Amino acid sequence: MTKKEINRKEFSDWLRSMGADVQATTSPYEFARFRAHGAVQIVYRRQNGAFSSGEFGMECLAAFTRGTSLAMGFTGPRHGVGAHLRAALVERDGDACFFCGMIMPREDMTIEHLVAKNKGGPDHTDNLVLAHEKCNQSAGAAPLIDKIRIHVQMQIKKQGSPA
Ligand SMILES: [Zn+2]
Repeated sequence: MTKKEINRKEFSDWLRSMGADVQATTSPYEFARFRAHGAVQIVYRRQNGAFSSGEFGMECLAAFTRGTSLAMGFTGPRHGVGAHLRAALVERDGDACFFCGMIMPREDMTIEHLVAKNKGGPDHTDNLVLAHEKCNQSAGAAPLIDKIRIHVQMQIKKQGSPA
């Protein structure tokens, strides 16, 4: 098997696209440093080119090499990612509430987990939408299917029934 050369920038971009919080490396031995699953993960590269890391860092290298995706979990700290996540969600979805469809002022925006955290829902953007605090609270505990129903009904109401 030929060993695929791992490009630092491509690996960092991949980590970021999976939801990791990529940070600057702090020594020449560090190949990558990022937050994922609530902890700082460091991938080292030895002089002979071999990589070493913790279990999760090695998993990341393997997934990157295979070209598969890997969930980065909660990158924390909570308050640090809030604004960053919110900006990413606004860029993806616009600034309308997922449930009622009304445009939200920034201070009313909350980040809603479609699959609730206590049901194992990840902190990845795939599982996150923006909603009013009020709408978030009233729908927050509902099963995903009900949340989607609320969302779809709101879309139909907004656009009017098809002719
Ligand atoms: Zn709302």
